[in-house]
Amino acid sequence: MIMFCLLCDSEEKLYDGLCKSCFLKEFEALKIPEYTTFTVCSHCGATLKKNKWQQVGYFDDEIINDAIQKNIEVNPKLEDVDIYTEITNNRGTVYECIIHVNGNVINTEISKEYPIEVKVEKGVCPDCSKFHSGYYEAVIQLRADDRKLRDDEIKEADEFIANEIQRLCKTNKLAYVTERIVLKEGIDYQVGSYNAAHKIVVNLQKQFGGIITESRKIVGHDKSRSKDLYRSWVLLRLPSFNKNDFIEYEDKVIKIEKIGSHKFSGINLDTYTAESISWKEYDNIKKVAQIDDIKKTTITNITPNEIQVLDPDNYDTVDLKKFDVMDKLNIGAEIDVIKINNRLYLLMNEE
Ligand SMILES: [Zn+2]
Ligand SMILES: [Zn+2]
Repeated sequence: MIMFCLLCDSEEKLYDGLCKSCFLKEFEALKIPEYTTFTVCSHCGATLKKNKWQQVGYFDDEIINDAIQKNIEVNPKLEDVDIYTEITNNRGTVYECIIHVNGNVINTEISKEYPIEVKVEKGVCPDCSKFHSGYYEAVIQLRADDRKLRDDEIKEADEFIANEIQRLCKTNKLAYVTERIVLKEGIDYQVGSYNAAHKIVVNLQKQFGGIITESRKIVGHDKSRSKDLYRSWVLLRLPSFNKNDFIEYEDKVIKIEKIGSHKFSGINLDTYTAESISWKEYDNIKKVAQIDDIKKTTITNITPNEIQVLDPDNYDTVDLKKFDVMDKLNIGAEIDVIKINNRLYLLMNEE
C-alpha cells in the first residue's frame, strides 16, 4: 500500500501521516500560553520565586526566564532539549520575549522560536505588609535609673538606633522602627524584628553601659503555623551615674572614670588605687555625689603621713591620711575635695 503525505502528497516514509519536511515544519516543540506573569512587591521590589519571596540576587533575566519555564510544556517527542529566552522589548509592565528551542526529533536537529509576553503583577510581600500594618515583634525600652534621660543621651541613642536599623535592614526586612514613643520614664522604640531589637540593644549597651533585661508576652496565635506569637520588651537601664560621679560599693567610695560594656572603673578614694566593677554588681551600687558637689579648699599643712586641709563648709582643719600620689602637693596650694557621708576626700586631678 502506497502512502502519501497528507499535506503535500509526496510519497515517502511518513511520520504521523506527514513527510519528513512537512512533519518538521508542523512540529510544535513547545506548548505555550499567550502570556505568563511574575509577581513583584510594589513596596520593596522583592519577587516571588517558587512561592517564596526573594529579596536579593534575583535579576530580571532570571525572573523572566523562571516565569516562562514554569508555564511551558515541551513536546515529549523532542530530545536533547535546550531552551533559552531572550527579552526583545520592555513596555512598562510587559516584557516581549522570544523562546529559542533546540532539540532533536526524528533524528533531525531542529531549532524553533516562539514569542511570548511576560507581565509583571504587583503584589505586597509579607514583610512589607507587616511594616504597613504597623506590626512589631519587640519594643526597645531606653531608661535611666533614678533619673531622667539626658537630652544628649536621647539624641545619641536616636542616632545610634537609626544607624543600626540602616545596617540591619539590608538583610532583615523587619528591621524597622514603626514608632518612637516619648514617655515620662524614657523612650520606647517599636521594632519589627525581635532579632534586630536584641542586636541593637546589645550594641547600645556597649556604647552606653547599663543593664539589659528582657521579658515577653504572648500577643496572639498564628493558626497557619500553630505557633504562639510573642512580643518582647528589651529594656536597657542606663546607669544612675555618669563618668566623674561618685559611687559607694562595698563600703568603698569610688570616683567613676570609665564606663565600658562589661564593667566600669574608677579610683577608690579610700586607697587611691584603681577599681573595676562588673555590671552584674550594678544593683549593689549607690550614687553618692556628682561633679557639682566638688569643692575647692586650701592645704594648710603636710606631714610625712598626713595632709591637713580646711573643711570648705565650716573652715575647720581636717587631717587626712597622705598617700604616695600626694607627694607633689604643697602647703598653701588649692585642691579639689568632695564630702561624702560627712567625710572629706582629696581629689587628685592628674588622671
Ligand atoms: Zn509533505
Ligand atoms: Zn516587600
